[in-house]
Amino acid sequence: MADYIPSLASVDPQQFGMAVASNDGEVQVVGDCDVSFSVQSISKVFSLALVVANDGDQIWRRVSREPSGNPFNSLLQLDQEHGKPRNPFINAGALVVTDRLHSITGDATAYIRALVRRESGNPHIDGDPHVARSEGQQGHRNAALAHLLASYGNLECPVEAVLEQYFWQCSLSMTCRELALAASFLSRNGIRADGTRLLSGSHAKRINAVMLTCGTYDAAGEFAYRVGLPAKSGVGGGILAVIPDRCTICVWSPALGPSGNSTAGLAALDAFTTRTGWSIF
Ligand code: GLU
Repeated sequence: MADYIPSLASVDPQQFGMAVASNDGEVQVVGDCDVSFSVQSISKVFSLALVVANDGDQIWRRVSREPSGNPFNSLLQLDQEHGKPRNPFINAGALVVTDRLHSITGDATAYIRALVRRESGNPHIDGDPHVARSEGQQGHRNAALAHLLASYGNLECPVEAVLEQYFWQCSLSMTCRELALAASFLSRNGIRADGTRLLSGSHAKRINAVMLTCGTYDAAGEFAYRVGLPAKSGVGGGILAVIPDRCTICVWSPALGPSGNSTAGLAALDAFTTRTGWSIF
């Protein structure tokens, strides 16, 4: 369990849920699919999608899109690479994306919340203030990353504001069913639940590509080998995976393997693509 965020350490590790949302909005579920959990880094997919939707490719001037080959919260690599994070799914990259979303919209929190509420159909989804506070109190490494980014001129908003927005988005509390529905625009080539477009088909494809190469910590190679899908994991034990043109899957089980990915979640997705033959490869 991610015991560096104290409020996550007390979750029952035996839970397991899975939801598969097909592109027409039908959802198949199993297990603890309606238990809310802390989405943590899965939120990085929504903030990136909103920035790309508003700002096109501009973000790639400030964030690269290569696997990091390093821990997701590495300070060393950020310094060696002069404040340009390797990708938008490690913490440094996500801080830059959140910074950009906050500066475009004036309220990153409100935009992310509105997106996940609208797409999932649950108007009550929100951050968990207890988790956000707990992370803020222990968030020395994220604060160090934000200050390092600022020292290289790669933040537009004040460090404190970016951290507050970032901790809030990580604390979002959602179920497997809600997450699978909320991210369905990625399997529908950028189309929202109401049929309007959030992202161009090309931008949806590119976000899926970055998820495949960078979305599962320092184990994206192993994940692609075993599961063969674009995915984003979080230290709350959730994994969101996309099968373009078909469905979006969310699996959750809190116990994490050595790379920070849910052990049971990874096994379930491995079995799922093996049995269905629905890997993208
Ligand atoms: N809020 C967590 C952190 O910044 C997110 C980690 C994760 O899920 O990868 O450390």
